[in-house]
Amino acid sequence: MSLTKRSWAEPFKIKMVELLKMTTPEQREKAIKEAGHNTFLLKSEDVYIDLLTDSGTSAMSDQQWSGLMLGDEAYAGSKNFYTLEKAVKKFYGYKHLIPTHQGRGAENILSQVMIKKGDIVPGNMYFTTTRLHQELAGGTFVDVIIDEAHDSENLHPFKGNIDLNKLQALIKKHGAKKIPYVCVAVTVNLAGGQPVSMQNLKELRALTQEHGIKIMLDMTRIAENAYFIQQHEKGYSKKSIAAIVKEICSYTDGATFSGKKDALVNIGGFLAVNDQEIFEEASNLVVVYEGLHTYGGLAGRDMEAMAIGIEESVQDEHMKARIGQVLYLGEKMQEAEIPIVLPIGGHGIFIDAKRFLPHLKQDQFPAQTLAAALYVDSGVRTMERGIVSAGRNAKTGDHYYPKLELVRLTIPRRVYTQAHMDVIAESVERVYQDRKKIRGLKMVYEPKYLRFFQARFSKL
Ligand SMILES: *Cc1c(COP(=O)(O)O)cnc(C)c1O
Repeated sequence: MSLTKRSWAEPFKIKMVELLKMTTPEQREKAIKEAGHNTFLLKSEDVYIDLLTDSGTSAMSDQQWSGLMLGDEAYAGSKNFYTLEKAVKKFYGYKHLIPTHQGRGAENILSQVMIKKGDIVPGNMYFTTTRLHQELAGGTFVDVIIDEAHDSENLHPFKGNIDLNKLQALIKKHGAKKIPYVCVAVTVNLAGGQPVSMQNLKELRALTQEHGIKIMLDMTRIAENAYFIQQHEKGYSKKSIAAIVKEICSYTDGATFSGKKDALVNIGGFLAVNDQEIFEEASNLVVVYEGLHTYGGLAGRDMEAMAIGIEESVQDEHMKARIGQVLYLGEKMQEAEIPIVLPIGGHGIFIDAKRFLPHLKQDQFPAQTLAAALYVDSGVRTMERGIVSAGRNAKTGDHYYPKLELVRLTIPRRVYTQAHMDVIAESVERVYQDRKKIRGLKMVYEPKYLRFFQARFSKL
């Protein structure tokens, strides 16, 4: 036995378990048919390992559960609001906090406050709810991510970076006045959880400052982004995740945050800004859409749990195990030569469905098809991030045809074991062996907004 090998393990032990229902392939065939071949429409009790999302699916710590008992459910001025405000100042450095029921609540308010009709909002690849709120506020989203992000085989270590030349061209074309802010996501969900480098953020800051354009962070997975900076960016290997997180925030003017990802809670979010005027306008709007500015749609106990989760999320040991588990699964798939997005991202493994099912055309929904097939094979629930998620162009009515057609295997935080990861990898391998037999889908019901959530399909 080699004495040099040292395995890592999770920096926690399990105190309570949730029993899972085991199903047969026949039961799963029936369930996916009833769900219109859309994994969003499956009942969760029919799912064995749920990789639909890492959103709101984390396991809270005993500290967070204890925090729930400290809930101060006063309508105004809850103690827990001040605890959360303190955590946001301490770990992120923003001056003003507005809690919201989740990330999209913050996106709605930020978009309404900052975007005027006809404005342009550049961003590093779109996120579904973010872009929709920008559009509903009268803005047009423009993707300014580097080209490498659209290539699932490109090994660039910071595929989330903004292409400053694209941004400069956009400023030249429309004028800085038409650009209220640049929306920077860390990490980039739809590119496969790819990080942004600190260098890129610094350069972006310099460029936007020249033109008086603000930077608003979508900081939903900021601690995961910080881990990649620590591991791969020169000058950061000895800095803590906490220090890197705070430095990222320092180059921006504010942020929207979904507590359901990094912050290890099941519900919650916030808008944080430095600018007093934006804060005041946002405070006016939050009472319309979310609730009073000291609870924003959350119970006091939720704010307490989120404050504790924020602190836990920036611990180096936590992040090493969190991303270590994702890497473990990704490396297993690479060994089996499954086409996945590389480098392996922060919150999940993204299978390239175009390369997995090359015999399907994109409008036969290869990623949707593959997600359904994986569920039938093993009860593992994944989701589509491709043509269905991309939606339609509002002007022409055509599908958007995104370059990336992916199936996302998102890993909840602190929920599954290494043995679960083995089961997942083996199921993907099995489906890969039989891939030639898989037929595509046609869409038989299409909702108007965010269609991927509720669309229904039948087999071709
Ligand atoms: C989840 C998510 C959001 C929206 O947050 P919700 O809490 O789901 O409303 C915004 N941006 C990114 C990158 C996300 O992953």
